[in-house]
Amino acid sequence: MHDFDLFEPDDALSAAVLTQKSLVDTQDRLGVMLDIMPIGLLIHTEQGILFANQAACKLLKEERARLIGQHLLDFVRTSEFERVQGQFQASFQGTGGVLQTEAVLGQNEGAQRLVRLITGKLPWEGNPVIQVLLEDITDQKRAENSLRQQTITDELTGAYNRRHAFYEGGLHVESHKQRKIPFSVAMIDIDHFKRVNDTYGHAVGDKALKHLTKLANEALPLIPNTDSAIFARLGGEEFVVLLPGLEMEPAAVAAENLRRAVEATSVPLDGSEPLRFTVSMGLASLGEVEEDFAALLSRADEALYEAKGAGRNRVMSAKPR
Ligand code: GH3
Ligand code: MG
Ligand code: MG
Repeated sequence: MHDFDLFEPDDALSAAVLTQKSLVDTQDRLGVMLDIMPIGLLIHTEQGILFANQAACKLLKEERARLIGQHLLDFVRTSEFERVQGQFQASFQGTGGVLQTEAVLGQNEGAQRLVRLITGKLPWEGNPVIQVLLEDITDQKRAENSLRQQTITDELTGAYNRRHAFYEGGLHVESHKQRKIPFSVAMIDIDHFKRVNDTYGHAVGDKALKHLTKLANEALPLIPNTDSAIFARLGGEEFVVLLPGLEMEPAAVAAENLRRAVEATSVPLDGSEPLRFTVSMGLASLGEVEEDFAALLSRADEALYEAKGAGRNRVMSAKPR
């Protein structure tokens, strides 16, 4: 026999062994990889969980041994159950490809996490099996919400800011145009605010701005027939109340109630008498003549100017258009 005759089958054999070995290795390695990957993974039958990787166990706050056999739907809160169940059923049926939804997981309040659930059917023989990826988006959502909150609120008072007032105002003007939904606005300006600053200092002035915001936020939810009234700081000591759904008359009642609340309360101060102040308000409502939000505001501002001229601490209404 020639050397190569001896060599060849041996070589082929070792190659096959190597291939087999690397396949097994790959499976082992894949298993380890799936186990340690930083996103939760469940292999789920219709009856329950078959496999859970480390991240899934951590997210669901369960030991692996206790997780196997449980159903992920048992970790979903009641209000979201049907939606998640619907996605699971569609995935088991293999309809719709890869599906995803967001849901809060975790049985006890403190441990709840907001999770993106991505489900897809696995092409395995036998009973249907799906894989469920669990991505913890709690922190991301919190950051998003806080960023969004910052873009729509005024830093000092926590009231909505000017930009948000214009955004919302534009939407309400549009609803009036399309569906004749009434819309009124009340401009507010603190009376003799320069005096407050001059007498007590800027910090106390700021306290007054916060006090007004607190009163408005308490008063707004009590206004009948509107559930989307908002209070916004336009700048300085000028604010606006948006009153969607309200004609001039009920809007005037709401404005008058807020004016009275300001008049009747005071801001506690360290070491001196509580501060009392009043506000003047100008009211305008959308009417027959089409106008944009800026025009509506400017009519409210004219009415406010009249309220100042008439002696302050009062609500004046712009003529209907
Ligand atoms: P009027 O009754 O006519 O409104 O008199 P007023 O003194 O309130 O006059 P005006 O509205 O022009 O005064 C605005 C004052 O508001 C001037 C400014 O010093 C003060 N101001 C504006 N922004 C702030 C703020 O963020 N904090 C404080 N403390 N004061 C502010
Ligand atoms: Mg002013
Ligand atoms: Mg003022």
